[in-house]
Amino acid sequence: MNQPKIDTSPKVSDEVRKTTCYMCACRCGINVHMKDGKVAYIEGNRDHPINKGVLCAKGAAGIMQVNAPSRLRAPLRRVGPRGSGEFEEISWDEALDLAVSWLKPIRETAPEKLAFFTGRDQSQSFTGFWAQNYGTPNFAAHGGFCSVNMAAGGIYTMGGAFWEFGQPDWEHTKLFLLFGVAEDHDSNPIKMGLGKIKARGAKVIGINPIRTGYNAIADDWVGITPGTDGLFILSLVHELLKAGKVDLDYLARYTNAPVLVNGDPKSPEKGLFLRDDAGKPLVIDRVTGKLTAFDKPGVRPDLHASHRHAGITHRPVFHLLAEKYLDPKYAPEKVADRCGIKPDKIRRIAAEIARVAFDEAITLNQEWTDFRGEMHATMTGRPVSFHAMRGISAHSNGFQTCRALHVLQILLGTVETPGGFRFKPPYPKPPEAHPKPHSGVNPGGPLNGPHLGFVQGPDDLMLKDDGSAARIDKAFTWENPMSAHGLMHMVISNAHAGDPYKIDTLFMYMANMSWNSSMNTSGVIDMLTDKDESGEYVIPRIIYSDAYSSEMVAYADLILPDTTYLERHDCISLLDRPISEADAAADAIRWPVIEPDRDVRGFQSVLCDLGARLGLPGFVNADGSAKYADYADYIVNHERRPGIGPLAGWRMGEKGLQNGRGGANASQLDSYIKNGGFFVEHIPAEASYYKPWNTAYQDWAVGMGIYDSPQPYIFQLYVEPLRKFQLAAEGHGKRQPPDHLRERIKTTLDPLPVWYAPFEDGHVDPVEFPIHALTQRPMAMYHSWGTQNAWLRQIHGHNPLYLPTRLMAEHKLSDGDWACVTSAHGSITVPVAHMAALNENTVWTWNAIGKRKGTWALEHDAPEATRGFLLNHLIHELLPPKGDGLRWANSDPVTGQAAWFDLRVKIEKVPAPIEAHPVFDPIKSPVGTGPKELKWKVGK
Ligand code: SF4
Repeated sequence: MNQPKIDTSPKVSDEVRKTTCYMCACRCGINVHMKDGKVAYIEGNRDHPINKGVLCAKGAAGIMQVNAPSRLRAPLRRVGPRGSGEFEEISWDEALDLAVSWLKPIRETAPEKLAFFTGRDQSQSFTGFWAQNYGTPNFAAHGGFCSVNMAAGGIYTMGGAFWEFGQPDWEHTKLFLLFGVAEDHDSNPIKMGLGKIKARGAKVIGINPIRTGYNAIADDWVGITPGTDGLFILSLVHELLKAGKVDLDYLARYTNAPVLVNGDPKSPEKGLFLRDDAGKPLVIDRVTGKLTAFDKPGVRPDLHASHRHAGITHRPVFHLLAEKYLDPKYAPEKVADRCGIKPDKIRRIAAEIARVAFDEAITLNQEWTDFRGEMHATMTGRPVSFHAMRGISAHSNGFQTCRALHVLQILLGTVETPGGFRFKPPYPKPPEAHPKPHSGVNPGGPLNGPHLGFVQGPDDLMLKDDGSAARIDKAFTWENPMSAHGLMHMVISNAHAGDPYKIDTLFMYMANMSWNSSMNTSGVIDMLTDKDESGEYVIPRIIYSDAYSSEMVAYADLILPDTTYLERHDCISLLDRPISEADAAADAIRWPVIEPDRDVRGFQSVLCDLGARLGLPGFVNADGSAKYADYADYIVNHERRPGIGPLAGWRMGEKGLQNGRGGANASQLDSYIKNGGFFVEHIPAEASYYKPWNTAYQDWAVGMGIYDSPQPYIFQLYVEPLRKFQLAAEGHGKRQPPDHLRERIKTTLDPLPVWYAPFEDGHVDPVEFPIHALTQRPMAMYHSWGTQNAWLRQIHGHNPLYLPTRLMAEHKLSDGDWACVTSAHGSITVPVAHMAALNENTVWTWNAIGKRKGTWALEHDAPEATRGFLLNHLIHELLPPKGDGLRWANSDPVTGQAAWFDLRVKIEKVPAPIEAHPVFDPIKSPVGTGPKELKWKVGK
């Protein structure tokens, strides 16, 4: 009778607003529950193609992100010295007038004096469009220090790569091999996929020096030595070739394995393809025995036959490939010590791959027609799939390692076949379907084309007439010819050195360059604050946009405060990095489910405004008025090509709404919001596999506006553009590399994947620095955003350096002891912890947990600011001198990707200091510190 009345189903919200999560890069659908106009809680959207209702800890903690005390509150103008953190708040008009007063004069005279680089944003097709209209050649996003080796290696080899480009066939795969993966970038979708295949009893093999996260649930773990993945993969290729376990039919039909290669050692065409008058690569037809274009209807390309003409022998790519990888130097015994994997284990994995691929092949009863017009009654799959990301790519041999992995997939016939790896629209897309880079400056006018792209040979490099770099980051030069994503990590050091030229304004978005996004953190801080003889800053002006009081804020002269992800419009576009799945094209939006309670604006809307104030052609009407009121207006009304806009859903056709192609529809965003924030269009069943060669897919993609005409192509086991750079290094052609780069180009730009030791190994004494040092992204954090989030800080508040059993014993260390870790570049003193499941010669820590005092609204005694630390202090953008009078970049020689994971260190036990070293002076926080207790009540 006296029981209290408890409401067991309280009303949690009075409205649900559906948008897209941005607590990491996976872009799941979320239902934001609102109560009294405030966010009450966040759950996963069950209808969303990416996460189907699943929400991770980060996603749930979004509520703390949008209420974080570290949010910037208003535009800021620096009043103290750079780095002090002393600012005054100004109005948006003042801020934009100031920006225009800096940007307009240089646009009229020398637009290259603006360097505009963006970090983790997901709107590169928009920011690139802005930069192109401004006219500077100096634009890129952060791919150069993230995973460009993976993207470029994949696109040059097979027209797409892992992650946003494609995914394992979770429904059919029977064996899944997972190489080093950033678990924040590969969060819910991979977890769900792993859950699916584990439930089916499929086997997972993890190849990673560190057994955490996904590797912890692998059935087999290969604790490989960092930087040797390529060698391990080529040893697997050696074993498969020796056993004859490669898919010859697939190779003959869908790859350049049968394409004939000029073998004349004296020819300027040595190593190039034999082509017909139309420029098509030639093969020998097994039926007629004659030279034939690779794509001729009815052709049966011969993997075996050579062709001799005018005294020159042309051999098929497959000959060259087999010869190269059957070399005993790739035998398991020969690579085992270097890779830290026993020969038997390499052999066993190769045998298992072969068994599943060839003895457990699967067949789907689905007809399809290929690009040569041949009809197939079924789809056959070899159910072995792979996934990889930054772990194998952030090395100086990363491009060729990523290529090696794709070559392994292709040899097995597991790409775009059931059970293997599947592309996600707009991929597959070969390099020829991407633009080439442009750097043609026209003061007062736009650049002569898109900044970034895929070069086909030396003629496409971005060099000035005197041979110097056209871009401030030296992308697309002989030092890194295929730098498809630019080199953000080199911008500050090159601008500081005035090499290749000086700039006036550095404009950056969401990139914490004075902290966890830079190699050589202290050096970058010095460069940002350095003054010349006249007392002016060497980098004269810095504009920065961020939503939070990050470490980079203190180093800017003007801050344009961004919104949080629930307060803004965003467009996750098929023109950029959409949310497609292997069986559907999909894109999504974010929209302001809450209004900002501060004087902040979405960065993309600010760019629209700035573009109009600067009179950029893409941002003004003929009468000079602003073309777009804000980013939402741009998303709806911008057309990149006739009928193709940022969003593919609910476009306006002649007979009403249609998807893919069509004119602008003023109600488009309403349709997205009504549909849960996303649009999805499924690929027809007959088009769902074999996409690069499947007529039904090609036609469907044209209808969706992904291509303007069918783009069938064959996979490039042998990448001819790489060979063109080698030919130049051998002395052929007009454009010649500098002499000091010739040998490196010959060795590293091999058209067939090669493995070479990471460059740092040749620049430091491996006896003095015997240990490999790595960072990993925790699943629960996304870059630096996570460790200021009140909920997520409870998961990773600080980050010990993890040591394997052998090194703990050797250095007489116990959990909680401290060690001094020294590289050729610097030292840090940090707490250590034991971890047994770790390569015995590797140490590691979580990335971006350590914070600088005075940033992110944290107290000065926060664990992140006292015990947290970064490995970045040990890494330099240049390799140590090796006595040849040159300083070599610490990056991949093909793409320029920062070689974060080549780091070698030594360790010494030291007495516990008061806090981790190095200690930096505190910064004056423009937002103060957060309250002692962060809580509030939503609703009555
Ligand atoms: S995986 Fe990433 S995008 Fe998905 S809910 Fe978690 S944080 Fe959000």
